[in-house]
Amino acid sequence: MVYFIGAGPGAVDLITVRGCELLKKADVVIYAGSLVNPELLSYTKTGCKIYNSASMTLEEVVEVIVKFDAQDKIVVRLHTGDPSIYGAIREQMDLLDKNNIEYCVVPGVSSFCGAASVLNAEYTLPDISQTVVLSRMEGRTPVPPDEDIVKLASHKASMVLFLTSSMIEPLSKKLVEGGYKAETPAAIVYKATWPDQKIIRTTVENLHKSAMENNISKTALILVGDFLSCEYGRSKLYDSSFTHEFRKAKQE
Ligand code: SAH
Repeated sequence: MVYFIGAGPGAVDLITVRGCELLKKADVVIYAGSLVNPELLSYTKTGCKIYNSASMTLEEVVEVIVKFDAQDKIVVRLHTGDPSIYGAIREQMDLLDKNNIEYCVVPGVSSFCGAASVLNAEYTLPDISQTVVLSRMEGRTPVPPDEDIVKLASHKASMVLFLTSSMIEPLSKKLVEGGYKAETPAAIVYKATWPDQKIIRTTVENLHKSAMENNISKTALILVGDFLSCEYGRSKLYDSSFTHEFRKAKQE
């Protein structure tokens, strides 16, 4: 059996209990060395074979999986954050299907959740935004034209940009062109939940300057939106005048 496991954003204790139990049982672990905390490998048993996928191609990864699966070994493919977000797991799953190899996915805490936690932020504030846009600037991987940042910015929703920390200057321009005010609050979170994390609160127009001042050009998320400021409406869910399935409104 093959397990695709989300390792979480960085801190070793942010892997799920299920992910950790499987990691302990694994005979083979292929981990994304560029972003998975290597301390997680200390959970593996003696003799567990470890591969770092950072220097491997898709075919090489699948070759390792196929080889050990044929020996009935437990193979763990350890991905950063949650594997469903920029995890490139679909192409691996498709090749495993072709080889008739069974697999399952264990979710993880994505870095966008890790970043919100270290900022004490809530993306979905009443009267501010009820939508979270997860996206990226186009790099070597193309982005469909309808998802250009300028178009996404027109919603002025809460936004999180992955894989974009080396393109912050053009990002800022697109955000403003699309509709965010230059003074909209923004944050850069470098290595959220890792011991060397950095949190920089800034504005859309100052994003580039802030990134330069703090030497950040990789392993960061850029968060944008008024959810990072302090004005918002209270939730209906916990409002004393609001009735829902589990609670009746209190009479005045
Ligand atoms: N599957 C991952 C994302 C992988 S894409 C997840 O769910 O988080 C890799 C990008 O994720 C990085 O370029 C960076 O933008 C972001 N990232 C991953 N871990 C991070 C962390 N701990 N702090 C900040 N950004 C992180």
